[in-house]
Amino acid sequence: MAGRIEKIFKRNEWIIVKLTLVVPCFNEEESIINFYSEVTRVFKDKVEDYELVFVNDGSRDKTPELLRAIYERADNVKVVNFSRNFGKEAAIYAGLKMSGGDYTCVIDADLQQRPEVVLEMKEILDSNEDIDCVAAYQGERKESKLLIFFKDNFYKIINKMSDVELYPGASDFRLMRRQMLDSVLEMSEYSRFSKGIFSFVGYNTKYIPYEVQERAAGKSKWSFMKLFRYAIEGIVGYSTVPLKAASYAGIGLMGISVLYLIIALIVGAVVGEITSAVAIITLLLFLGGLNSLFLGIIGEYLSRTYLQVKDRPIYIAKEILNYEDKGED
Ligand code: UDP
Ligand code: MG
Repeated sequence: MAGRIEKIFKRNEWIIVKLTLVVPCFNEEESIINFYSEVTRVFKDKVEDYELVFVNDGSRDKTPELLRAIYERADNVKVVNFSRNFGKEAAIYAGLKMSGGDYTCVIDADLQQRPEVVLEMKEILDSNEDIDCVAAYQGERKESKLLIFFKDNFYKIINKMSDVELYPGASDFRLMRRQMLDSVLEMSEYSRFSKGIFSFVGYNTKYIPYEVQERAAGKSKWSFMKLFRYAIEGIVGYSTVPLKAASYAGIGLMGISVLYLIIALIVGAVVGEITSAVAIITLLLFLGGLNSLFLGIIGEYLSRTYLQVKDRPIYIAKEILNYEDKGED
């Protein structure tokens, strides 16, 4: 059975699949060694060829030193050190770019996502050529009721407003084939929202449930505000509905003003006079609507410019350690 997992049968020969784990790390000094030894333990005898790409996202603790120590000892580790904290999305992008694997998985450093699940994902890719990606979603959620409420509604809103379909509870914890990875890398937009990007590139994704573990150590790097901003990123990045809302409101208001005027005219004809209040209300509604409409039109232009202008670097790497370059100097 071991041979089944290690290799896959392709084009009439057994080939060894290389697996890459991309690990974004921000102030993870308490988890990082534990994470590394857990992966080593779980993958032993199960995954023949794998590498780890750690991205140190401007940590202010001992994370960089620990990563360097791991890199020096191991022969399958790459480390990207950012010049400052660029956020998890940037760290994922940098890690994916460094991936040399046939299969690539994004996984957190805090062991909330078990390496065993990666084996499960690999099994599925190994035995189903038509599946390009296996994504894990939280089966049972261990978050507060309030957070679950906000997250669920976020998915409802964004799925209604945009062309991309987001799977509730699915995160960036997923294993994908090279071809899909290359497509993800082509999406080099500045404001990144991985869930949207993974959905946008398409491909055949299979969703499997997994159980989120308690954080092994340290605390979550996401505050409610950070999550809220991330949600806005998802909506603005994948939908122009908010921009168009101004146009719709404008057209609506102008319509109401015309209706109001007609009714006022009829009432005026019956009663015999049109008061100045009626004229003022009509004018107010009409001008308000016109204002809104033009704001909306400006928004339309601005959104296109905005989408085009995004060409700042997504991250800045201060240093890259790569096991493939070891022994060269
Ligand atoms: N992370 C990162 N940069 C950040 C915030 C988080 O690289 O600015 C990493 C973090 O080190 C962890 C992963 O992203 O490996 C998920 O973060 P966290 O566990 O804090 O999020 P949660 O599990 O609470 O959603
Ligand atoms: Mg976590």
